[in-house]
Amino acid sequence: MAHASQTSPVGILGGGQLAMMLGEAAQRLNMPTSILERNSASPAHAAHFPVTIGDWRNPSDLKTWLASLSIVTFENEFVDTGALREAAHSNLQFFPSLDAIDLIQDKLYQKEFLKNAGLPVPRFRSVSTMADCEACADDWGWPLVLKERRMGYDGKGTFVLRGPDALDGFWSHYHAGRDLMAEEFIPFATELAIQVARGKDGSVAHFPVVETFQSNSICLWAKCPALIPRNDATAIKQMASTVINQLNAVGVFAVELFYTASGEIFINELAPRVHNSGHYTIEGCKTSQFEQHIRAVSGLALGETSLTYPGVAMLNILGEFDGQCDIQSPSSLANGHAALHWYHKQDSRRGRKLGHITAWGDTANAALATAIEARKEIELCPKK
Ligand code: ADP
Repeated sequence: MAHASQTSPVGILGGGQLAMMLGEAAQRLNMPTSILERNSASPAHAAHFPVTIGDWRNPSDLKTWLASLSIVTFENEFVDTGALREAAHSNLQFFPSLDAIDLIQDKLYQKEFLKNAGLPVPRFRSVSTMADCEACADDWGWPLVLKERRMGYDGKGTFVLRGPDALDGFWSHYHAGRDLMAEEFIPFATELAIQVARGKDGSVAHFPVVETFQSNSICLWAKCPALIPRNDATAIKQMASTVINQLNAVGVFAVELFYTASGEIFINELAPRVHNSGHYTIEGCKTSQFEQHIRAVSGLALGETSLTYPGVAMLNILGEFDGQCDIQSPSSLANGHAALHWYHKQDSRRGRKLGHITAWGDTANAALATAIEARKEIELCPKK
């Protein structure tokens, strides 16, 4: 593996688990990182990476942190791009660019971009009145999907309305102050995702297509490779290339998709960063999404992305209670075919992502069964 050393650290905005795993990858490449995070007990901090405590909305915190950096990347797209533009010095580069972040922050602009790029997306429209929504339902049928244009994640801000009564209820109790868009409901058979990387030299590398499963819009597991025909996987890779090339982006992006029983493909949304659907790549691919991102933003050649096992799966470990949480785990999981990643979060909440398990096997389904087995060997308990 090519190692590199650069004097100026890679700046990472945010200190959650994604920053922690980016930090781990950077360390293996001998690249220093500098993380800005407002919480003094973040996953990045627990993993002993250099964390500057500060608020990215505070111009003076930002200016001080940015002063010693030449490259900044993100673990989260919900950043204040205006504050970043103001605080940035002239030699600073953001990967991906703040323009790309601006576009992706707004689901309506993001969908318009995808549509204009000729990519398949569910039909969508901007809506500001109940009559607008009714017109969408008249054209596309029920259910109707309403989405907040900004700041939605893990299904927060996405509403699937089954019929006119649900729309009435939503409109009288919920819509006030929200900037909304409507989307046709796609009766998908599975949800898919792909990680794609683009280097500073314009080279593009795709990871394999992965199948994801969400319950209440939170990802429970992912398995790879997705069981779809080769032509469809090729089409998805081409779509991902179009996205990242048209945005002229540098770094790893995730493209989330819907796949229907008849083999139709729709792009649901983009994440301009490493993503939960790609955590399996740490053990499951020759280069992880985290290493690939660090490679891309620091100008190294992109790594090889093929699978290291015939099948790989990732299972999220979600909080089971509110309060501080510890984990008890045997040193070897599922007969040595699974690995644990624990994020050391200070506070646990029911449903919050606290860690994940990767497992491998002869097929994606066998790997998922092993991950589920490994999860049974782990216990979450209140911290003493
Ligand atoms: P978030 O940004 O919060 O993840 P998404 O737009 O991905 O929001 O929506 C969350 C989930 O809602 C998706 O994973 C999917 O299960 C469902 N969903 C979103 N849009 C549609 C749609 N057009 N048709 C059917 N289901 C949808």
